[in-house]
Amino acid sequence: MTQTMTAWVVRRPGPMATHPLERVRLPVPEPAPGEVLVRVEVCAVCRTDLHLAEGDLAPRRPGTVPGHEVVGRVAACGPGADRLSVGTRIGVAWLRSTCGECRYCTRGRENLCPYSRYTGWDADGGYAEYLTVSQDFAYPLPEDQPAEKLAPLLCAGIIGYRALLRAELPPGGRLGVYGFGASAHLTAQVALAQGATVHVLTRSASARGLALELGAASAGGAYDVPPEPLDAAVLFAPVGDLVPVALAALDRGGTLAVAGIHLTDIPPLNYSGHLFQERTLRSVTANTRADGRALLEHATRHPPRVTTTAYDFEQADQALADLAADRVTGAAVLRVGDRSPAADRGAG
Ligand SMILES: [Zn+2]
Ligand SMILES: [Zn+2]
Repeated sequence: MTQTMTAWVVRRPGPMATHPLERVRLPVPEPAPGEVLVRVEVCAVCRTDLHLAEGDLAPRRPGTVPGHEVVGRVAACGPGADRLSVGTRIGVAWLRSTCGECRYCTRGRENLCPYSRYTGWDADGGYAEYLTVSQDFAYPLPEDQPAEKLAPLLCAGIIGYRALLRAELPPGGRLGVYGFGASAHLTAQVALAQGATVHVLTRSASARGLALELGAASAGGAYDVPPEPLDAAVLFAPVGDLVPVALAALDRGGTLAVAGIHLTDIPPLNYSGHLFQERTLRSVTANTRADGRALLEHATRHPPRVTTTAYDFEQADQALADLAADRVTGAAVLRVGDRSPAADRGAG
């Protein structure tokens, strides 16, 4: 007899008001060769989930379960999955598989693999009691941190970490952070722990307050000139108008990395004002597994302060609606399978 589980699927992509998500019963998935079955503890909510639900990101298959920031435990091992054991705490992230053979994969740039597949887009994700993951793409996680604080690291943290690498911040350097949402606030903490001087530039007054609390040297408006020239900058706000602003703020030889998938059009650049003196403009595309491991290792040594808003699993659609309406403080997380005994008593 097949066991079933509760899951949310994207039934008809559209605005959140049209209820694109539906709560259903699905068979518990069978781990394929090399995969493990994961019992989900917490799944964080990413803006990409919202893009998928609302149809901004075209579905790759019908009725997919979204969610790609999963903290859970191995519940069963498929054939040949011998490197993880039942009960091990693991994370499941956006990058689900790569071909391992193309010129990008073989050069250590698997984030650019044209055959890569993604959790919660090409395959069912973590808005469910169970999902499967290849043992090669699962991240072992520490036991001593709450799942709610670990889950947002698995996308917001990892992507921001790669953006920081791409910005080539020199040791002890001066970093500009443009925009200060979930990913930026984690990335700024990585840079601070590495000894950087961080200047945050964002339109949000509350985000500026948080930046200073976390140790930023300054916090200004998005279009302000930082108090000193920058060795590196990361643009998290999806605003192309900020590209020349950030380039102009770079010191000689500085690098600007654009972290987002989407960016509004970049206005014309002026060669001497924005690029000469060997300033560099770069994009950031997804991440490699090495980026993920490096970020999680860093977070184990320097646990970041992660601001989260928790939702019960039954409220996944509400979490996405709140995200769409900018009503979420920090990262929204779904408590799927970690109901505490106290909560159970309360519910009883
Ligand atoms: Zn994401
Ligand atoms: Zn490849």
